[in-house]
Amino acid sequence: MRRKARLAITLVLAVFSAACAARQPGELIQPGFNVFSKEQDVQIGQEAAQQIRGQVDVVETRQLQDYISQLGQRLAARPEADDYPYSFTLINDPSINAFALPGGPIFVHSGLVEAADNEAQVAGVLAHEISHVALRHATNQASKANLIQLPAILAGAAIGDGSLLAQLGQLGLGLGVNSILLKYSRDAETQADALGARLMAGAGYDPLQMARFFQKLEEEGGSRSLEFLSSHPNPGNRVRAVEAEVGTFPQREYQAGTGRFPQMKQMVAQLPQPQRPQQQQTAAAVSPPSPPTGNFRRLETNALAIDYPNGWQVFGDRGSAVVTIAPREGLVRTASGGTAIGYGAVLSYYYPSSGRIDLRRSTQELIAQLGSINPNLRVNGNARALRIDGSPALLTPLSGASPYGGPEANFLLTVARPQGLFYVVFVGPRSHLPQLEGIFNQMLQSVRFRG
Ligand code: ZN
Repeated sequence: MRRKARLAITLVLAVFSAACAARQPGELIQPGFNVFSKEQDVQIGQEAAQQIRGQVDVVETRQLQDYISQLGQRLAARPEADDYPYSFTLINDPSINAFALPGGPIFVHSGLVEAADNEAQVAGVLAHEISHVALRHATNQASKANLIQLPAILAGAAIGDGSLLAQLGQLGLGLGVNSILLKYSRDAETQADALGARLMAGAGYDPLQMARFFQKLEEEGGSRSLEFLSSHPNPGNRVRAVEAEVGTFPQREYQAGTGRFPQMKQMVAQLPQPQRPQQQQTAAAVSPPSPPTGNFRRLETNALAIDYPNGWQVFGDRGSAVVTIAPREGLVRTASGGTAIGYGAVLSYYYPSSGRIDLRRSTQELIAQLGSINPNLRVNGNARALRIDGSPALLTPLSGASPYGGPEANFLLTVARPQGLFYVVFVGPRSHLPQLEGIFNQMLQSVRFRG
């Protein structure tokens, strides 16, 4: 069964690659599938940027920071870069690297400026990184990873207490060397080269300098550029691909340049030894909220409508595919710095790797995935067949360990929908079950799908 799933994934990827390879030079590139909203891209990026600034040696020389900013903003002002809040930060680090965080923050190592032959090459790296942001490659990859935990992450982001990135980190979505957020596919590289070329040409820089610089790093190899090359894998024939792209642009002369590059390169060479500051983490504990009493209100998203208790909040973007509805104290900060949902309901979609939705089988797969994240999770009785808004559905009782301590009662509602297996996980301490059961039941009966 494992092997079958893997085969299906391989096939899906093969179809993906074929679709991407079919793009002709000059054709418009659009961001791919994404369960995050653009605002969430920005939120993730801001939080990650703050963490990174605490871990690296940010160059203090004003002239150098201004220079990198000036080059970056000139490219980011192009309409193709979209309207993200871009920022450009030079890090004192002799290795050759540059990276973009979702939603706009871009970092460049001083070693990269030293390795460049001219300003257009530095601009080329910035244009390439801006393109990863505009095409939302990081959250696109995270979305495709089909992670059940994403609802909790997005709910954590909504509280804005700094827990989001820790949660991402637990899933391997953090900022480590092999992070999904920072390591791109070859297809993403091809796209970033193509859009980057367009940004450069628009800003008056010769787009071929970007491809030549990447080529040069590849040929020189060595440990200084290893990080960059492993997170931006060579899609092959970069120079030729960019030439083909440029061939579709209107003819023009590329004369942009501030004339300050040699001076800046010299200043970079004279930077002191990098200093790495330390960082610390905190965690908090909470007790469960009281069971809700009184009235319900109605949530309307792009996908559905559902009733929920008046005092609860909606976390997550109404335009995205995942929403958490919980009292504020329902989101619990774990000792490791992540977010757990101890009280409330998580609504999301599960996409079976086979691509085919079979209510019973897909529900089993989903439970297995939930169990792999939460080892305490058990099926606690027989699933009950019911209908939700006319569609066949299953309600499966589960049990687990509550983040407040003691046992947890969960109910998993699954509904086969044309776009995937819609599910709601209802969560609460078992001691609250007598009150919660009626509330969960009223919520699930009120679900109405759109379209
Ligand atoms: Zn790249």
